Amino acid sequence: MLASFLWREINKNANTNTENSRRVIQMFTVKETKKTKQIELWKDGKAVQKACRDCGRVKLIEDFTRKMEGNYRVECKVCFNVKQREYLEQNRDKRAVERQNYRARILGMPDNFTEEDLQELKRFSNGRCLISGKKVENLEIDHFQALSKRFFGSTKGNIILISREVNQRKGTMSIFEFIESKRSEGLIDKKQLSRTFKYLASANGLSVPQYIQLLKDAEKLAHNARELLR
Ligand SMILES: [Zn+2]
Repeated sequence: MLASFLWREINKNANTNTENSRRVIQMFTVKETKKTKQIELWKDGKAVQKACRDCGRVKLIEDFTRKMEGNYRVECKVCFNVKQREYLEQNRDKRAVERQNYRARILGMPDNFTEEDLQELKRFSNGRCLISGKKVENLEIDHFQALSKRFFGSTKGNIILISREVNQRKGTMSIFEFIESKRSEGLIDKKQLSRTFKYLASANGLSVPQYIQLLKDAEKLAHNARELLR
């Protein structure tokens, strides 16, 4: 059963690949790998073909990545790339959270934003920029008050999702500076922004007026500190 499957696969390769066909018409030794029990076709003391564990196809050994210890991966390069991409996607959020916490940590600020916080924020934003209210494909993670103000760090109460457009136009401006600047033209949705203030205030355990006061105080402090260091 297995042998006939292998021969069918080999002949399929032979028909479609002339370079390969020269190799496959010669006799092979069928071996089973010790650890993973995979079928490999050996010739002159070398593996030349192998069955991929994931797609089940028998492929040239060059279609498998060789690992450090000299063995080939259990899945072919095509399957490995698919898995790698899926893995990276699943881990994108995790890495984004780690990156934001790291950025705060090296500045000595709170760094306790979690993946759960990010998921909750995503549900809250529902695909919309939390400043402009616009629905965009790829929202960017940003600090509502810039880390450079050295006050709020990477926490549930300071991380928001915004569009690239808002992110680039806002730069390190505070939300208040941004609202008053010409750069925010057409990019402020008052209703959205008020929801965002409520969300962040609550995450900081404050009322909205208290939270706004704290933001302004922190900015004043940051400004004064800059002046002092001049
Ligand atoms: Zn495969």
